[in-house]
Amino acid sequence: MPAAGEMNRRVFLLIVFLAACRTTTPTRELPIAEVHALTQRDDVARAMQFVDSDRDAIIAQWRTMTEIPAPSGQEAARADVVEKLLRDYGLTDVHRDTAGNVIGVRKGSGGGHRVVFDAHLDTVFPATTTLQTHIENGRIYAPGVGDDTRNVVSLLAMIRAMNAANVTTEGDITFVFTVREETDFGGVDQFLADHKNAIDRYVALDGGYRGFTYAGIGTYWYRYHLLGPGGHTRSNNPPYSATLPVARAIDRLYKLKIPNNAWLNVGMLGAGDVYNAKARDAWFSVDLRSSDEATLKRLDAEVDRIVHEEADRVGMTVNREVTSQEEVASIPSFRDSDMVRTAEAVWREFGPEPYVTDTASNHSSAALRAGVPAISSGVAPCTESHSITESCEIEPIFVGTKRNIVLAAALAR
Ligand SMILES: [Zn+2]
Repeated sequence: MPAAGEMNRRVFLLIVFLAACRTTTPTRELPIAEVHALTQRDDVARAMQFVDSDRDAIIAQWRTMTEIPAPSGQEAARADVVEKLLRDYGLTDVHRDTAGNVIGVRKGSGGGHRVVFDAHLDTVFPATTTLQTHIENGRIYAPGVGDDTRNVVSLLAMIRAMNAANVTTEGDITFVFTVREETDFGGVDQFLADHKNAIDRYVALDGGYRGFTYAGIGTYWYRYHLLGPGGHTRSNNPPYSATLPVARAIDRLYKLKIPNNAWLNVGMLGAGDVYNAKARDAWFSVDLRSSDEATLKRLDAEVDRIVHEEADRVGMTVNREVTSQEEVASIPSFRDSDMVRTAEAVWREFGPEPYVTDTASNHSSAALRAGVPAISSGVAPCTESHSITESCEIEPIFVGTKRNIVLAAALAR
C-alpha cells in the first residue's frame, strides 16, 4: 500500500490530468459576438433598414408572384418574371439552366465561402386553381403563398436591400430559383450536378421559421404486392384471397413500436376487380421515414419480415416495387460545424433559442446527399401548405429577410 504522501501525489496528478482533459475537449461556442458585430456593420445595418422602407414593395411583389400559376414542371411564367428582375437588379451571370432553374450571382470581394440561397418556384396547385391573394388581420391568404412563394419574394427583397446598402460579402452569393421541388427534385439535382464543386454552403429556404435543419430524413416509398392463386368465392379456403395476408400484415405494421424519430404510413391499398373472385394480387403502399439511418434500415427490415411471414402463412409470394428510396441526408459531425454554429448564432441574434433539427425534407437534403454542407429554414410562419386555405403571417417576412441578409454575410466569410 503506498504511503499517504504518495497517495496525495497520485490524486494530485489525477486532478491535473482531468483538468488537462477538460481544457482540450472542444467546447461548442457560438460566434455570438461576431454575428452581433456584423449586424452593427454600416452596410449590413443599412440593408436591414432598407427592408423596413421596402415593406409595401415586398407585399406587392408577394401578391403578384403568388398569383402567377407555377404548377411543378410548368414554372416558366414565374421564372420569366424572376429572371427579368435578377437582370434589373444587376446580378452577374443571370441565366436559365437546362432544367429551367433561374440563377444569378452577387459577386463577393474575394476569399470567403461561396454560398447558395435557394427558393423553389413551383407549387403543388394545378394551373386551373384560383390564386387570388387577400390580406386580413395581418395574414396573407392564397394557395402557394407560403410554400414557397414567401421565400422567393424574400430572396428578391434581400437582393434589393443588399444592393441599396452596397453590402460587401467575401464569398459570392448565388441565388437559385429552382423548379420541380414538389415532384422529383429535377431542378435541384441539375443545379447540383452543374455547380456542386463550386459551392461551399447551401441554404434552402423552404420550411420552418423558428429554427433551421442541418440534416434530412430518409424516406422509403414502396408497394408490396401479395400474389396468390385466386379462385371463385365458393371454392375451398385455403387458398384465400390475397387480401387476407395484406390485412394481417397492415395490422401488424401498425403494432410496430415506432420511435420518435421515425414515421410509418400505409396510405394506399387495393386488390381484385370483382365481387365473386378471390384476389390474385392485393397490394398496399408503405411510406417509411426516419432521421436516423440505422432506425430506417431496422424498420425497413422489420416491415419486410412481417410481409413475408404473412405471405408464407398462406402460401403466397411477395413482390416489392420500390417507388423511391431516399437515404438519410447528413454529413458526419455537421451539427458542430462552423456553418451550423454560425447559423445558430444568427438565429439567437434575432430571437429566442431556435429549434435546430435533423428533419428536413427539401432541397437541403439533396445538397447534403451531394456532399455540400446545407441547412434549411424559411422567412415566415405559414399554415396549411399544399392546401387552398394556405396562409402566412405577414410581419415575420421582414424580420426573416433581415436575418437572411446577416446569415449571408456571416456564412460568406
Ligand atoms: Zn416547399
